[in-house]
Amino acid sequence: MNSEELFLRSKQVVPGGVHSPVRSFASVGGTPVFFREANGAYLKSVEGKDYIDYCLSFGPLLFGHRHPEIQEIVEDTVRRAWSFGACEPYSLELAEFITSRIPWVEKIRFVNSGTEAVMSALRVARAATDRSKILKFDGCYHGHLDQLLVKSGSGLAGLSSSDSKGIGPEIIQNTLVLPLDDEKALEELFQTQGNQIACLIIEPIPANYGLLPQRTEFLKKCRELTTKYGVLLLFDEVISGFRVSFQGMAGITGIVPDLVCYGKIIGGGFPVGAYAGKKDLMDLVAPSGPVYQAGTLSANPIGMRAGLKTLTKAWNENPYPELETKTKKLTSGIVKLLTESGDSQWEAVTYGSLFWLKAKTKEPIRTIANIPADHKVKFATFFHKLLNHGVYLAPSGYEVGFLSTVHTDEIIEATLNKTMKALQEEK
Ligand SMILES: *Cc1c(COP(=O)(O)O)cnc(C)c1O
Repeated sequence: MNSEELFLRSKQVVPGGVHSPVRSFASVGGTPVFFREANGAYLKSVEGKDYIDYCLSFGPLLFGHRHPEIQEIVEDTVRRAWSFGACEPYSLELAEFITSRIPWVEKIRFVNSGTEAVMSALRVARAATDRSKILKFDGCYHGHLDQLLVKSGSGLAGLSSSDSKGIGPEIIQNTLVLPLDDEKALEELFQTQGNQIACLIIEPIPANYGLLPQRTEFLKKCRELTTKYGVLLLFDEVISGFRVSFQGMAGITGIVPDLVCYGKIIGGGFPVGAYAGKKDLMDLVAPSGPVYQAGTLSANPIGMRAGLKTLTKAWNENPYPELETKTKKLTSGIVKLLTESGDSQWEAVTYGSLFWLKAKTKEPIRTIANIPADHKVKFATFFHKLLNHGVYLAPSGYEVGFLSTVHTDEIIEATLNKTMKALQEEK
C-alpha cells in the first residue's frame, strides 16, 4: 500500500487521518508521506523512497534515528522490563545525572509528555504562590493543556481568547497573554496585576511559531519583574533543553528560572517529559506535599535509559558547537541556492541546531505579528520541491527544522545538491 492509500484508510478511522495535526500536511497541502523505518539521518517511506530528515520527530533525536549506542540500551532494557509501576533505579540515575549538572534543577519529576510537564508545573506554581493567574506570550507553545491554548484577545492588554473549540471562557479566565518582545506591556501588566500572577511561562527561545529569538534584555526583564512581584518564572525548555546547550537557554543566558519543563530530547525519542526546579517548590508535589500528580507509565524504564544515554552522550561529547556550524552551513547553502535560482526573498534564522527558513525581512522577527502574511504559501511550494527530491522538512512553515549529529558534511552536501536540482527543475 502506498501513502495515498494508507492515508485514505486512516481518515476512515482517525480524525484527519493523523494522531497530531501537523502530520497531516494541512499547512503545506498534499498527502502526507507514510514512513516505515528510519536510520541515522534518513527516513524510508512505505514506497521505499529515502528522505534526508530535518524534522527528526520534531526535536527529540539529537543523535539521529536509532543511534547504535542508544538502540543497544533500549534493546537491553526491553529484555529486562517494559514497565514496573514501582520503584526502580533507572529514573534515579537520570534524575541524579540532571540535578548534578543543572544547578536550578534541584529536584525533578518525570512524566510522559511536554504537555503533562507544563500542566503539572503550573499546578505547583499556583500552590506555591496561592495565586490563580498565569501569564503567557503570544507565539509561545506549551502543549495542548486547556489553560494555555489561548491567544491574545482584542481590546485590553493581557486578555485572552481561546485558540480551540471546547475551551470555554471560564477555563481561560485566569490566563493572561502578552506579545513577546515588549517590556513596556510587561511592566504595565505587572503594575496592575503582578500580585495576582502565580507564574510567567515562556519559551526562552520561542521555536513553535517559526523561530523567534528574543533579546536577552527582554528575558532579563521577565526575571526582574517576576522576582519583584513574587511571581514564579517558568522556562518551558521542552524544545531548547539539551538542544541549544546541555543546560538549555537558562544556561546560555544565565537567567535562572524557578521552574523548568523538559521533554523531547530528555527521553531520547521515547515519551518522556519532566518538570523540575528548586527543592522547596518541588517538595510541594505528592507524596511529599499537597500538590497531586501521578502517572501509570511515568519514568518508564525504556525512556529513562534512552534518555540517560542521550544526555550522557550530549554531556560527554558536547556536540553543540559542531551542530551549530553544520546548521549554518546547511541554511546558508539553501538560501544561496534560492537566491541563485532568482528567488532572493529568503533568509534563515538559526539558533544552535534549530533553523527556520523564512521570507527576508528588514528587521529580525521577534513577535508573531511580524511574520509576513505570504510566508505559509511560499514555504509550502519550497517544501514540496524538496520533498520530491528526498528531503523531508517539518510540514509547516511555522515549524522549525532540526539537525542531529549524524547529519554529516556529506549529507549536508547531498541535501544542497538535491535542493539545487529541485530548484532547477521548475524552470
Ligand atoms: C513540544 C513542546 C511542548 C509539548 O510537548 P508534547 O510532548 O508534545 O506534549 C511544550 N512546550 C514546548 C516548548 C514544546 O516545544
